[in-house]
Amino acid sequence: MTEYTMDTCPACEKAAAKVSHEFRMGCRGCAARSIVRGPHFKRVQLAGMQDRQYRGALAQLGVTHEEVRAQAAVDMLLRVQQRQEQRRATPAGTSTDAPARCTADAQPSAAPAVQASARASQPRPAQATP
Ligand SMILES: [Zn+2]
Repeated sequence: MTEYTMDTCPACEKAAAKVSHEFRMGCRGCAARSIVRGPHFKRVQLAGMQDRQYRGALAQLGVTHEEVRAQAAVDMLLRVQQRQEQRRATPAGTSTDAPARCTADAQPSAAPAVQASARASQPRPAQATP
């Protein structure tokens, strides 16, 4: 079996440029990436602690948690970039009846939701009805 390193592996080269679903046997980078995409990593991230199944997956593929986290960081960065590119690739005014200023509204932003929830958590002022 060919042992790839992240410098020689064609799948890792692709994955470094854009989110790729290509993996090579015997490559630590690919093994780590496959764990990132698998169910165990998400569960561990959510739980904030490693469990037996996750450790088992690490041991099985011979990679470390640090390698997996490094791949996860690359993946996340690429996904954000990809989303931004997709947004840019859909120029305003492609639809005939959409004015250009609609792009500001079309951008999904967490800010309004945060504001809304902050407003909702505030106690309602007592109604001063005479
Ligand atoms: Zn690889």
